[in-house]
Amino acid sequence: MLYDNHGRPINYLRLAVTDRCNLRCFYCMPAKGIDYLPRKELLTYEEMERTVRLMAGLGINKVRITGGEPFLRKGMMDFLERLLQIDGLEKLNITTNGTLTAGLVPKLKAIGINSVNLSLDSLDAQRFFEITRRDSFGTVMQTFHELLDNDMPTKINCVVMNGRNIGDIIPLVELAKGHPVGVRFIEEMPFNGSGENSGSTAWAYPQILQHIQSYFPEIQKLEDGPSSTSFNYKIPGFKGTIGIIAAYSRLFCGTCNRIRLTPQGMLKTCLYDDGVFNLKNLIREGGTDGHLKTALLEALGNRAKDGFETERKRNSFGLPLGESMATIGG
Ligand code: SAM
Ligand code: SF4
Repeated sequence: MLYDNHGRPINYLRLAVTDRCNLRCFYCMPAKGIDYLPRKELLTYEEMERTVRLMAGLGINKVRITGGEPFLRKGMMDFLERLLQIDGLEKLNITTNGTLTAGLVPKLKAIGINSVNLSLDSLDAQRFFEITRRDSFGTVMQTFHELLDNDMPTKINCVVMNGRNIGDIIPLVELAKGHPVGVRFIEEMPFNGSGENSGSTAWAYPQILQHIQSYFPEIQKLEDGPSSTSFNYKIPGFKGTIGIIAAYSRLFCGTCNRIRLTPQGMLKTCLYDDGVFNLKNLIREGGTDGHLKTALLEALGNRAKDGFETERKRNSFGLPLGESMATIGG
């Protein structure tokens, strides 16, 4: 088992396999998109597989594939199958916008993907278009139904945006009435690729909860798992659950069990850091597994206690957080 310098167990890697995306969610990217990395700057599948194998040997037993949009990368299914062969890896999960996932779900289930998080910020086609700047609502809903039809454990991720989709909160909560899904509301973070700090606390965890409580006063708190990022709730009679992720308020740092690898191979030990070392460069300079392990352990030995401390330590401290979430993986 891996531990950081604050005694937190680290067993979870979020692996962003590409920075490319076919949507333009305005909380993540500007309308014109972001400057994508040159292809050769992306970690190759072989480099990612080697890294996951090494980390699994050290105690990382859960990996989430994210991006950008993971299914834009060619050969994704083969890659997932290869990862699933790695000893020590117990859970392989995916976060997707669902635009390219319809049709793939039976295979994802068959190869052993444990769960899928589907991003869905609105149940209204027009509002979905205004948020994502693309007309893909129907396809994403097709993916949603395919996930449920195939009994794939599914969570819905909705970023709560002041003045944009507050009217969507209750319809999304109601999705959990008839469907066994975890609907999670995420505080908007300032990672929209524009350099303009749009992260807003106007709709933070307490406001989101109060809003839901005003419609469903019978809502009940559930016990949260040891490293849960969401505060979880149940509404009597509902098949699914409700979660709220205080990502901007950073209320979960004390039990954070995760590290991140960006598409360009930067290791991040906190969502709010600007990368602690470039693992891809180390690999391409001929680094052995021993070198990689040493670098990883050193990074975990220097982890900030929370996202606020991390932000103060950024090279660019004082400037707005400018990167797109598509380059981080969420
Ligand atoms: N493209 C995939 C998707 O949208 O599910 C995977 C990558 S996306 C960056 C991962 C998660 O980050 C999504 O659930 C998305 O809603 C969330 N996200 C993106 N930008 C965010 C922001 N500024 N604040 C909060 N969550 C954000
Ligand atoms: Fe693409 Fe996901 Fe970012 Fe939306 S949140 S632009 S789907 S990477």
